Amino acid sequence: MPTCAFCDSSGKLTGEHVLGGWLSKIGLDLVPVPHSAGQLNRIGRELGVRPPFRQKVREVCGTCNNGWMSKLEGVARRVLTPFILGEPGAISPEDQGAVATWIQKTALTAMLVSSEEDRKGGYGLPASEYHALYALRDKAQPLPGSQFWIGRYNGVRSWSVRATPLAVRVNGLPEPDRPQGYAMTILLGQLVLHGLRFTTPSLQVEVSTGLDLPQLWPPAGPIMWPSRQPLDDDAFLGFAGGKDFRSTEKHIELRPWRPATELTPSQAVGGMIELPTICGKHVVYYPTVLVDEATRGRFYAFGTACACPMAYLIHTEPDGAHCKAADTAEAISELYEALPGEEHAIEDQYGVFRCKQLTVSGPAQSGKATP
Ligand SMILES: [Zn+2]
Ligand SMILES: [Zn+2]
Ligand SMILES: [Zn+2]
Repeated sequence: MPTCAFCDSSGKLTGEHVLGGWLSKIGLDLVPVPHSAGQLNRIGRELGVRPPFRQKVREVCGTCNNGWMSKLEGVARRVLTPFILGEPGAISPEDQGAVATWIQKTALTAMLVSSEEDRKGGYGLPASEYHALYALRDKAQPLPGSQFWIGRYNGVRSWSVRATPLAVRVNGLPEPDRPQGYAMTILLGQLVLHGLRFTTPSLQVEVSTGLDLPQLWPPAGPIMWPSRQPLDDDAFLGFAGGKDFRSTEKHIELRPWRPATELTPSQAVGGMIELPTICGKHVVYYPTVLVDEATRGRFYAFGTACACPMAYLIHTEPDGAHCKAADTAEAISELYEALPGEEHAIEDQYGVFRCKQLTVSGPAQSGKATP
């Protein structure tokens, strides 16, 4: 029996609006726009054209929907409506916690739009995020380890809700295999709301934004809106992808978790790793030993080709293999030959696989040894 994503009750599931119904009544342009769910590893997947603000998800119970969520919608409506319409104003510290919680709740709800199957594959936000927010429902406080900001948007989108998984990257260490946090971005009319939540508390770092947006949570005094630089469309995708976060710790960086922003992940198949190629129709294979090498900080380049025919130059990186170039076989072979580094031949039951060890670049070179 399906249960409520937030409280786990098996009561009647009512269908919660991803964006509160009040948004359809404040005079925003209601021209249908392509909905994108911002599914975790297919950012901005289109869900088809539907009337905005009408999209519902089915995994929220009536008690949640009409209780604590509805209270948050009430605060959001009162506080945010003028900004959505571009009217200047202020947010008092007493409202900042509820508005931040509303952002978190809205991002979590939007991620429920991803199909059940996608989420079983690990592509949604963890179920514990929903339960933790429910546990705090009467506190008007977002989850611990979160920060939120508010700004002005001056692009052409009328709305967007996105969540992007983030990796906390410590200088010199390989990228982790799981995200340790996520970014939340909500655009509504002229308003942009941005948030960050660390799901691994030990990796939490203090963060500011490149746009220097006023901080909504934790509260730091009354906020005037608008202030600072507006966000424009050129910057929007990077911003929603978490690229605007600036860690205040020198050796710690926050980045989009890379598997989330790239194509289908590789799969291990009998001693070989299957790598879908960017043509979208084929796969190529490389030896598993290159993955073991990558965990030891040793990376390789190799050329390969699919049946299109199309040739590819592939590099292994801490998070897997990545296509660096796609071209004719001649052009790829030239690129490969031009790479510095020693060539290795790996022999196994499939034949001989040739690759070149890449010289390490980036932070790993700057002093600290990679364990
Ligand atoms: Zn519920
Ligand atoms: Zn192909
Ligand atoms: Zn990569």
